[in-house]
Amino acid sequence: MEQAFSQYEVWFVTGAQLLYGGDAVIAVDAHSNEMVEGLNNSGRLPVKVVYKGTANSSKEVEAVMKAANNDDKCIGVITWMHTFSPAKMWIHGLQQLKKPLLHLHTQYNKEIPWDTMDMDFMNLNQSAHGDREFGHICTRMRIRRKVVVGYWKEENTQERIAVWMRVCAAWADAQDMLIIRFGDQMNNVAVTDGDKVEAEVRMGYHVDYCPASELMEYHAQVKDADVDALVATYFREYDHDKELEDKSTEAYQKVWNSAKAELALRAILKAKGAKGFTTNFDDLGQTDGSYFDQIPGLASQRLMAEGYGFGAEGDWKSAALYRMVWVMNQGLSGGCSFLEDYTLNFDGANSAILQAHMLEVCPLIAAKKPRLEVHFLGIGVRKSQTARLVFTSKVGTGCTATVVDLGNRFRLIVNDVTCIEPKPLPKLPVASALWIPQPNFEVGAGAWILAGGTHHSCFSYDLTAEYWEDYAEIAGIEMVHIDKDTTISDFKKELRMNEVYYMLNKALC
Ligand code: MN
Repeated sequence: MEQAFSQYEVWFVTGAQLLYGGDAVIAVDAHSNEMVEGLNNSGRLPVKVVYKGTANSSKEVEAVMKAANNDDKCIGVITWMHTFSPAKMWIHGLQQLKKPLLHLHTQYNKEIPWDTMDMDFMNLNQSAHGDREFGHICTRMRIRRKVVVGYWKEENTQERIAVWMRVCAAWADAQDMLIIRFGDQMNNVAVTDGDKVEAEVRMGYHVDYCPASELMEYHAQVKDADVDALVATYFREYDHDKELEDKSTEAYQKVWNSAKAELALRAILKAKGAKGFTTNFDDLGQTDGSYFDQIPGLASQRLMAEGYGFGAEGDWKSAALYRMVWVMNQGLSGGCSFLEDYTLNFDGANSAILQAHMLEVCPLIAAKKPRLEVHFLGIGVRKSQTARLVFTSKVGTGCTATVVDLGNRFRLIVNDVTCIEPKPLPKLPVASALWIPQPNFEVGAGAWILAGGTHHSCFSYDLTAEYWEDYAEIAGIEMVHIDKDTTISDFKKELRMNEVYYMLNKALC
């Protein structure tokens, strides 16, 4: 886990003032050092915390905030007011700060030392009101931040900081994220399209088009020996019928061609420095040159597992979102995937939605070792026998998310879901999950549809709505959460209230 985020750090800045004299400053510093060390040694934080000293004046606050902005390693700032820290001294620094902010409301000592507490102790340990003073100026200045309240040694407090850290890492990663679109959107599809300029302004990532012909230049250069080696890796990593290894068969050739497509895609993504991509099943290269003979579904599955963002049919918003989910998920065990609402199963309280795609589901969510199979796929420009990984997802709870463009803003829609055991699908050999949206199918799907949600979403077993709340706060986008307590009438009220809020709050539109 530490490995995944070792290039990043989060800064810890303690608020104080010089009113109480030099001894107080020394004590505040010693306490802060001990707390940061304790946080780092807790084993619960995925990103290293670096103590940046106490800020005792407007000049010191401004200096540390500017330094945070300019340090690429720094992905967020935690503030905590040890003593009373008059908040006007935070104004200029907060005006400068461009990195995500977490305000930690805690205290060095856990309990009141009833028998020994005197006025000196009171002056020194003033988080109770120092943090309210700081909170006031943040609210007054409309500073977006996460507020975590709790004793710094406690698991719940540390876990909430850990969530924010993972979101900060994904946020930092997104600021130089390039998504490459091989082909355009699927024609006429509205929900997967949107304003790419505003997406870059608001969420950081950049979206470029790349003609399939350029991808095919990389495809033409893939070496046969490298393809052979990758095919051998497939046979080692995945269950498969022994006959699939028979080089004289069409099925083997299809696996081989899939491996070649994967190598071409990886090569061009690396060359361009891209973190994600989209495909379009109608745009696979011209047959008079180098071309894909089948949808590169297996390649998409494997590249997703490797961390490349992926969206099908030109869905660049999902590609960027999946990359973020994958980054946040680093070191966590459940796994994540791009998914699509495929087919409904009405079954009373267990009514559920089959999640799949033609082929492109990430094997990180598989319950068992995926199976490499080749079957006919009758969609797209090249209907063909097509290689793919077949599996069903783990049973368990998770959270799925999507971003839609409402014309004047982006809306993040989040739904808690429960993956249940599917029945076998002998005639539909694709990867899939079967889930019941919370609070139930009727309300969950109804709320999602009212919110304008896509048929594509990015799912994770490990992430919770708290991650998405932190992300929406940092990005300054709307978030609606469909969970066990959602009712349609309250949800509709929320959508209507948000409409007014974002109409009035032009800074967020
Ligand atoms: Mn789709």
